[in-house]
Parts: sequence; C-alpha cells; structure tokens
Amino acid sequence: MAVVKPLSREDPEPLPFIDLQAQRKRIGDRIDEAMARVLAAGQYVLGPEVKEFETTLAQFAGAKHAISCANGTDALLLVLMAEDISPGDAVFVPSFTFVATGECVALRRATPVFVDVNPRSFNMDPASLERAIGAAKRAGLRPRMVIAVDLFGRPADYPVLREIADRHGLTLVADAAQSFGAKLGKARVGTMADYTTTSFFPAKPLGCYGDGGAILTDDGTKVEPLLSLRMHGKGRDQYDNVRIGLNSRLDTLQAAILIEKLRIFDSEIAMRNEVAARYKTLLSDIVVTPETNESCISVWAQYTILLDGAKAREVVQASCAAAGVPTAIYYATPLHRQSGYREFPADPSGLPHTDWLTERVLSLPMHPYLDAQTQQRIAHAVRAGVAAH
Ligand SMILES: *Cc1c(COP(=O)(O)O)cnc(C)c1O
Repeated sequence: MAVVKPLSREDPEPLPFIDLQAQRKRIGDRIDEAMARVLAAGQYVLGPEVKEFETTLAQFAGAKHAISCANGTDALLLVLMAEDISPGDAVFVPSFTFVATGECVALRRATPVFVDVNPRSFNMDPASLERAIGAAKRAGLRPRMVIAVDLFGRPADYPVLREIADRHGLTLVADAAQSFGAKLGKARVGTMADYTTTSFFPAKPLGCYGDGGAILTDDGTKVEPLLSLRMHGKGRDQYDNVRIGLNSRLDTLQAAILIEKLRIFDSEIAMRNEVAARYKTLLSDIVVTPETNESCISVWAQYTILLDGAKAREVVQASCAAAGVPTAIYYATPLHRQSGYREFPADPSGLPHTDWLTERVLSLPMHPYLDAQTQQRIAHAVRAGVAAH
C-alpha cells in the first residue's frame, strides 16, 4: 500500500501539465546566450548551428546521419517523399496515435491502413499488422511501408516489426516524436528502423522553443534526397530543382537552443525515469500503471494510467481538476474514428484494443523536474477520484 500524506487545508496553486520553466531555471542563461550568438551572427536560416546540431543529434542516437527539418510532421512527409509513396500504396499505421502519423500518408494520396495496438505497451500489435497487410493485398493495394509509433516514449517492438517488414518487403519507419532518447536493449531510438523521425515541439521530451523536427537514418544514399527535399527539391544548383520538395528547415535559433538542451538530455531522461518510478509506487495498487521492463528505457513523454472505464475516468479527472491537477486524454478519438480518416481501411478484425484504450487512458503531469511532494499531491487527487467512483 502506498502511503499518501493528507492534503493541506488551503487550496494549492494549480499545477502545470508540463513545467517548461523548470528547465529554464537550470539552463536558461546558457540558452539565452546561444540565442544571442545567433542574433549577432544573423544567419537565421541554415546557419552553422544547424549542421552542428545534426551531428550531435546523430551521435547521441548512435545513428549515422541526422537531417533536421521544420517539424515532426514534415519529417514523416519527407520520408514518404524520399520513398516516393504514391496513390495505390498501402502504409500501415496505428490508429492510436497523433494525427500526423496518418496525415502524411493521406497527403501523398496513398492509403493509410490502420493497425491495432497492444493494450499494455500502447504500441503496434504485430498480429494486427499481419492481418492488415493481408487485407491491403486482397484490396489490390501495394504494401510499401510500416510506420510504428513509440507511444508515450516507449519504443515499439522493432525486432518483431523488422522481421515482418523484411518478409513483406516493406520500409520500416519509426515515428519517434515522443521517444527520442529511449532505448531498447543497448540500441537507442534512431537506429532501429530504416528511418526514424522525431519532433522538437516544446512538449516533447527533447523540445525547442517553437517547431522543429529531424530524420535519422543509417542509409547514406538517403541523405542527399532528404536534404534536397527539405529545400524545394534543389539540385546542385539551388535554382535547378530536380524534384518536387518542401520548404522545411530547422531555424538556426532552434538548433542553437537544441544544442544546449541535448547536453543535459541524458540527465533529464534519468530524472523522467525517477518520476515514473515514483508514480508507480504511489499508484500501482489502485490503477493500472504503465508496464515497464528491464530491456526498455522509456523517455516518458506521457505518464498514462488506465482506469476502469469512461465513467471512472470522468470522476478521476474531476477529482484532479478540483485539486488543481491537470490531466489529459491521449487519445480520446483514434484516427480510424476521426471524420477525415474514417473511410480508410483497417485490420479486418477491427481495432478492439484501440477502442478499449480510448475509454480508459488518462495522462498525468509529467516532466523531469516533478518533485516527490508534488507527485504525492497528484496521487492524492487520483486516489480520491478512484475512491469516489
Ligand atoms: C507530436 C507528434 C508528431 C508531429 O510532430 P510535430 O512536430 O508537432 O509536427 C508526429 N507523431 C507523433 C506520434 C507525435 O506525438
């Protein structure tokens, strides 16, 4: 039984869901100096910090190449463009994810095919992927690619997905927008798929002060096409565009900020894991806390618990709100039930785990600087809600 101290009488200040200011207390000065250097130099687009950041990002992940771009959605789109994903192609994606994972496929006028997830890992279910591939073939689509998502910071089951992708001749892409920095065994995210994409949106584990993204790959032949595609499809001569591309670069200012943030990222990952371990101690006797295992280090983009159902979740959310504890539901509506995506095919057995999860998931405040006392307060509000249901 976890021991929870009673809440003090006076109403405490509402908590932030993610406290971005806490990190500024630690390295705000260094970041401001880095920004000032960029302002003084005035090279706002593709300044030297961009290449420097790409080099350190690849090193951090243990990947051979990193190509930065404007955001995590473009990172996915650029990969699909580099692989010439086209109408008639099937790209297998989970439905239990942020819209960008399916959006990039639909933008190419290809067909996203929705796959179910494992209810404990929240990640793509290999058996459902096999069924979806079979269904796509029967529907006359060309299976081309699988985009696995490392939901809430935990890497998908890449060794198993790799085997399936190879057997069917599919390109394997990791949507690591939530998981950059995570590990599976000794391997870091960034090395487990043909391409890994990530996002530096402020709320992600490695966030900048605006939008940003990157693609990592070990395949040297992909670097030139990706660099070209992120700059309108430029050839050797900037004004002879050899392919249809995008304007999708990472700002020099964001690269300078990310260089500073990457220096402390390993320590922040350790802190995130301490926060997650404390939540488990405080809550695992009354709610389902996320599954952990020795061989996998999550970066805990979200700390997501499971409640008994939609009604129980409503009561817990209300109890938290009353105590000034913000919560969020990722994701209330999976892609296959959203208006713009409803018509696309899915695993013919349906997506029962996805639907089951959407009624039960609840994400709690999560960031590296969450202290034990604040977590006690959060746990208290959750426990009160569970008891009230
Ligand atoms: C945030 C996110 C993206 C998109 O990243 P942006 O930088 O916001 O474009 C893509 N996939 C997943 C799973 C995400 O969480």
